[in-house]
Amino acid sequence: MVLQDLGRRINAAVTDLTRSPTLSEKAFDGMIKEISNALVEADVNIRLVSTLRKQIKSSVKFSELPAHANKKRIIQKAVFDALVDIVNPHQTPYQPKKGKSNVIMFVGLQGAGKTTTCTKLARWYQARGFKTCLVCADTFRAGAFDQLKQNAIKAKIPYYGSLTQTDPVVVARDGVEKFKKERFEIIIVDTSGRHHQEDALFAEMVEIQGAVRPQQTVMVLDASIGQAAEAQSRAFKETADFGAIIITKTDGAAAGGGAISAVAATHTPIVFIGTGEHLLDLEKFNPQSFVSKLLG
Ligand code: GDP
Repeated sequence: MVLQDLGRRINAAVTDLTRSPTLSEKAFDGMIKEISNALVEADVNIRLVSTLRKQIKSSVKFSELPAHANKKRIIQKAVFDALVDIVNPHQTPYQPKKGKSNVIMFVGLQGAGKTTTCTKLARWYQARGFKTCLVCADTFRAGAFDQLKQNAIKAKIPYYGSLTQTDPVVVARDGVEKFKKERFEIIIVDTSGRHHQEDALFAEMVEIQGAVRPQQTVMVLDASIGQAAEAQSRAFKETADFGAIIITKTDGAAAGGGAISAVAATHTPIVFIGTGEHLLDLEKFNPQSFVSKLLG
């Protein structure tokens, strides 16, 4: 199910109920059930869905609503607020500051979209007047540096990497040191992933973090990750303690409920979402506007 379908289904459930002439409690429960089913089918974590159910029920308190109350508005607002709560960890992400070096390190599994998203984010900051650059510390995947280099050249962003140095920690440290000396304000460090979570990857992440001491670590999650997102994001959180999430491929076939559930599992905000393969396909994430857009 794609994200738009999830939105349409939730919207239809609310509209069907609020347009029905009776608006009975039974119909209200039916609406909650339909919304819950849609979320579960979109891979939103079951426990989160159950919390949402309770939240809508308790904030509407259907049986206590006075006869003259605007039930339609109350129900719409309760559904909206409950959906916002799923994607809102009430944590403010790190805000890069002009005039100082802000090191942003990316982590995530191979194929999640790290390299692509690094360049998108670099361009995003560059367009907002930050002196921005990229460091490729992915020495694991053959061709990773070349990919980052091509992207960086296209976006006209200075980059650093090595074709001969095999130790990612050395590359990361050297790149960050060089760019700090040159007074770059946003230094984005791309790291290598693996196909699966594994000790070697986690050890490498910790070492790179120790070497470059990022102000922000960003976990990149593919929207199609499904129910595996919770365990994976927890494992990464325990090791790399990331402070922000970017969900990629929200333009794809998956509704992204799994990736969205990573927010609650790790109390970490989503900062951007990837909406395509191109450089400009990156949108700033805001819980309220995301839900507004989802519901159309
Ligand atoms: P990495 O291994 O984590 O560095 O992943 P890459 O950046 O190489 O991305 C893997 C694939 O996903 C590439 O083919 C990208 O073009 C694609 N990709 C990344 N982000 C998005 C996105 O938001 N939408 C779509 N459709 N494709 C994406």
